Amino acid sequence: MSQQAESRKYDEVIRLALERGFFMPSSEIYGDAPAGFWDYGPLGVSLKRRFIELWRRELVKRDNMLEIDGAQILSRNVFKASGHLESFVDPIARCRRCKAVYRIDKLIEEKTGIHVPERLSLDEMRKLVEDHGIVCARCGGKLADYSYFNMMFKVGVGVMEAEAYLRPETCQNIFIDFLRIYKTMRRKLPFAIAQVGKSFRNEISPRQGLLRMREFYQAEIEVFFNPNKADDFPKADSIMDYQLRLQPLNENEPIDIACKDALREGLISSKLIAYYLTLIQQFYEKAGIPRRLIRLRQLSVDEKAFYAVEAWDLEVKTSLGWIELVACNNRGRHDLGGHQEASGHEMEVLDDGEKVLPHVFELSMGIDRSLYCILENALDLEKGKPVLRLPPYLAPTQVAVLPLLSKEPFTSKALEIYEDLRSDFDVEYDDSGSIGRRYVRYDEIGVPICVTIDHQTLEDETVTVRFRDSALQLRVALNELKDLLKNYLSFP
Ligand SMILES: [Zn+2]
Repeated sequence: MSQQAESRKYDEVIRLALERGFFMPSSEIYGDAPAGFWDYGPLGVSLKRRFIELWRRELVKRDNMLEIDGAQILSRNVFKASGHLESFVDPIARCRRCKAVYRIDKLIEEKTGIHVPERLSLDEMRKLVEDHGIVCARCGGKLADYSYFNMMFKVGVGVMEAEAYLRPETCQNIFIDFLRIYKTMRRKLPFAIAQVGKSFRNEISPRQGLLRMREFYQAEIEVFFNPNKADDFPKADSIMDYQLRLQPLNENEPIDIACKDALREGLISSKLIAYYLTLIQQFYEKAGIPRRLIRLRQLSVDEKAFYAVEAWDLEVKTSLGWIELVACNNRGRHDLGGHQEASGHEMEVLDDGEKVLPHVFELSMGIDRSLYCILENALDLEKGKPVLRLPPYLAPTQVAVLPLLSKEPFTSKALEIYEDLRSDFDVEYDDSGSIGRRYVRYDEIGVPICVTIDHQTLEDETVTVRFRDSALQLRVALNELKDLLKNYLSFP
């Protein structure tokens, strides 16, 4: 199915997002709101925060990475050195009659099914357009003005409006801060620096919802290593039996293969890369995505980013097709080499007496689109009423406190319990509507546990605890409630 194809699941996620406060189009009350900008509502913020916390646990903390938080506006020279000024471009053409602009490689693919490699020249693309009689989709006019469009947002800094850019990926901060971090944090190769933050890309045609945005969150990890020692990586011993969901170049479907076998067969070039591919796959499994919907797909020469030596995309299958969530790239010497040459600062470091320019392996994750995939995967429409089956530790609202009846003394007792839980959990109090209708309301936003205050509560200080996924109801003593919640909601 094409990613443009509409699906009921997609519509349901958007409906849920808009009606229950996960996310919404930015500036939506104004007619001139540009596409590709979204705001997170209260539930979206909470879900995002928990997702990032899981990422910190499973990657940053597990691997003892360092974290930074860099500026979003960076100088022209940064992007000259990184290659973005020259290479971060999309080919476009304009309709001669109605002036509509098309991303020409995508238009050719859409109209002919022919894959257009990134390296094809403008002239070759023009020839394809002419040979296949492709015209403006809107008015049938002839396409002209073939050119490259740079997707970075240019900004003017200060009164002189010095040329600078909003970063199109968060990782450039990591590369330009590398030397200082390396020295001040007294690390040895290999080690990784991670960053969560916003990036900006002036997409020609932003797509549905959170899937292709112009302003978006990334969580990026850059592993710095000695290229001569990528296979001398003892940490990988612990993951050798782990089954990766790998789709190497010569396969059409993902295969389950143990890391050690993937290495022996040469499908992955080094232990270091196998280790980080494992960490990222395990992270998505803990985020609730079933293994069968995950694949690590190797990119061909035509698909790889301009800086990549070896590239794997972690993709998740959704109703819209496979969606790329993490680019796992061996960026080689491109980054530190580029900045060394352009800035004149030596980026080489000593590794056991050997002077090396570290190479970089990257795990570049799109947070927003990951959240979309998690929501879509969790949304269960089988039972008539939607239930959001998020892992308990990702649930944006963790507990709902519900008096059985909307009157005294149930409400006072419920409010007392709500106040007691509020500083430890994300909890809501709700006394409107029948108890059954309230359960439905909280199932829909994925609240894993509802606590009901009923007649018996008033007699013996116990409450009814209802679990979203099993609809099982337990009688729990109030003085044991917090422990139960902590256990049930804790990270895996
Ligand atoms: Zn036209």
